[in-house]
Amino acid sequence: MKRYWLETYGCQMNKAESGALELGLRERGWQPAGDLDEAELVILNTCSVRATAEERIWGRLGYFKAQKARAARRGRRLRVVLLGCMGERLKEQLFAQAPHVDVLAGTFQKHLLLEALEEEPRAEGGGRPSLTGREPYRFAPRHSPGEPGEFRAFLPIMHGCDNFCAYCIVPYVRGPEVSRDPAGILEELSGLKAAGVREITLLGQNVNSYRHGGLDFPGLLERLLPELPQSPEPAWLRFLTSHPKDLSPRLTGLLARGGALCRQLHLPVQHGSDGILQAMGRGYTRAAYLELAERLRKEVPELVLTTDILIGFPRETEEDFRLTLQLMEQVQFDDAFTYRYNPREGTRAYLLPDDVPSAVKQERLAEVIRLQRRISARRRRERLGREVRVLVEAPSRKGSGELLARTEGDETVVFPGPPERIGHFTRVRLLELAGHTFRGEESA
Ligand code: SAM
Ligand code: SF4
Repeated sequence: MKRYWLETYGCQMNKAESGALELGLRERGWQPAGDLDEAELVILNTCSVRATAEERIWGRLGYFKAQKARAARRGRRLRVVLLGCMGERLKEQLFAQAPHVDVLAGTFQKHLLLEALEEEPRAEGGGRPSLTGREPYRFAPRHSPGEPGEFRAFLPIMHGCDNFCAYCIVPYVRGPEVSRDPAGILEELSGLKAAGVREITLLGQNVNSYRHGGLDFPGLLERLLPELPQSPEPAWLRFLTSHPKDLSPRLTGLLARGGALCRQLHLPVQHGSDGILQAMGRGYTRAAYLELAERLRKEVPELVLTTDILIGFPRETEEDFRLTLQLMEQVQFDDAFTYRYNPREGTRAYLLPDDVPSAVKQERLAEVIRLQRRISARRRRERLGREVRVLVEAPSRKGSGELLARTEGDETVVFPGPPERIGHFTRVRLLELAGHTFRGEESA
């Protein structure tokens, strides 16, 4: 039995692409290894968005170098494959500094990887396959291994980004925006339906910029909603990530209707100061974002609204920073992913001085996190006592007799219940909060 060991870093798109790769590997007779010692193939699907992600992966490469040498001493072969954004960004450096990587693949030729793996392993010191050429991005036909009991799935609908925010490496490593043919999306959806999937998340760097011929993102949603699994219970549809500059009133209207479309929106604001937003090249002002958030809150009162905040961008002053805190207070995000700016070579901001001292970035980040914790707790407390629909995900902790579930807004709830509920919807009354997690009781 051929066994592989796969590690996936970074965003949901990487997770979906790893899913597609696993399907292909299994079709070719590979099985996942339960333990690295069983594996003859290691695959790292990598991320470049922040230096910390890359540093971690360099560390893993060092580890696998030692593992490969150890396997060789025991007469075993271990091949190492690196693919994804880091392969795209650092191909030359990886070629020079990581000679133990047997196959290197970037973003655009991932689909050739399976064939490259069939080829005879290279002799020590021989040439190695490099799948780092640029060609139009291709969507894999399926992205979920479709294991029995798998009830949540990612469904990529667009790829790449044309926005070139000053700090961001994504447009360079993922290339220009490409929207997937709706026929391919519908076909993958029908497979997910047949497999009994109950929650589907549409993926894209900017999902709401989707456009295929005359079909835009709200149009696509209208096509997909009637095709979702309806029995034994109506499934959920979500999408990630939305860009504020492309959020149309029609999309808000669809969210307001509720039903299968989850009233949840991840809408990264990044910053609260107009000067910084402009320097970042985000394409909206503070006032425009606030107006949008107000409209969303008014038209979709149940909406769970989350965001990304990026502090410490070049020339961020104390006042710029205060404006970000104020915006957070005004919008009352349900949750936020918070980041400190990290210069990425090749981006526009890389040419600016990284002049906010590290200690100041750290302090500001800590303040943002503290504030968001307070806001998140306040928002969640307001919902205590309500009864909500949840999708049960897993046992909470072994032996606790409790289950872990998610709400429509993708928040976690723990409640006592039997394991048969896993993979099904049920109704739960929210009783109290333990940190960010709701505790509840089943009311169905
Ligand atoms: N497309 C999405 C959008 O426009 O908001 C986000 C994609 S990006 C991969 C995810 C988040 O990483 C961004 O929202 C940003 O906050 C953060 N990020 C991107 N580049 C960064 C950098 N150079 N340093 C720190 N955080 C960064
Ligand atoms: Fe990066 Fe901006 Fe594109 Fe998001 S919209 S992926 S932050 S360049």
